[in-house]
Amino acid sequence: MLMIKRLMTQHMPGMLTCEEVDSFIFEFNEGSLSYYESLKFKLHLSMCSECRDYVSKYKDTIRVSQAEFIKANKIANVPEDLMQAILKSRKTK
Ligand SMILES: [Zn+2]
Repeated sequence: MLMIKRLMTQHMPGMLTCEEVDSFIFEFNEGSLSYYESLKFKLHLSMCSECRDYVSKYKDTIRVSQAEFIKANKIANVPEDLMQAILKSRKTK
């Protein structure tokens, strides 16, 4: 997979390679790329369907894991007395 990517993408001035897109993806998603870097990133995505897929999958993964994290935290934040009440009501049934 990575081998094919390397063969497919020759480095051009002012253009990111697929490998560079891969290494910038975290910063891009965080919005911490410079204006020029994010422009190059978007330019690459507009021309490379492989990286477009990759970025959208990356974003999906982040979204799902954040949702899971929030869910897990909410469960962990249930007050102790409420948790006891829930456990008690389950036992009586
Ligand atoms: Zn690419």
